[in-house]
Amino acid sequence: MPNISQQLQEYAQYIREWNAHGWSPATSTNYSVRIAPDLMAISQSGVDKSRFTEQHFLQMGISSGQLIAPPAGVRSSAETGLHLALYRVSAETNAIVHTHTVYNTILSERYLAQGYLRLAGYELLKAIDGYTTHESVLDVPVFANTQYIDALAAEFVQRYASEPTMKAYLISGHGLYTWGKTVEEAKRQLEALEFLLECEYRKTAMR
Ligand SMILES: [Zn+2]
Repeated sequence: MPNISQQLQEYAQYIREWNAHGWSPATSTNYSVRIAPDLMAISQSGVDKSRFTEQHFLQMGISSGQLIAPPAGVRSSAETGLHLALYRVSAETNAIVHTHTVYNTILSERYLAQGYLRLAGYELLKAIDGYTTHESVLDVPVFANTQYIDALAAEFVQRYASEPTMKAYLISGHGLYTWGKTVEEAKRQLEALEFLLECEYRKTAMR
């Protein structure tokens, strides 16, 4: 297993690459990795993701929700509570990624009333943990957006209890969260989901 510093360097590199795809405009989006059973490294708030480095990860206790020795004036992402909630409900989850893209923003709005967006029949579903065939169905929950992150985290925890195989969720007019046992798994799922959301959007536009 690579050491933590090396792991965060690689993660920061991925974050810059995703930014180059246009997936994190205007300092938005956030990322984390579990670096010990009760400790995560999470992206600092307000950093331009084209310049994101391993120095921009802050350490926070998962049970406590407290930053470990943060530099003065530095805060973790405004959506930190969503990361904490996910690590707390799933001991298998070790990395979480969150993007704001055109496709995830538009489609999450469109499917809010339905409560989920269904992805079915795509070869790339095999990039999702536990999916072995394109003849699969992945329902991605859609939550209403809010600035009350604790309320959204509670809503997620409730839904996760009834859908423990959940691999991702959307927030309406806002973005996508997905996660994995490793950063690489979360990366693979993120890239597959963003591709599939673009497919869904373009198919709708063709009709
Ligand atoms: Zn966000």
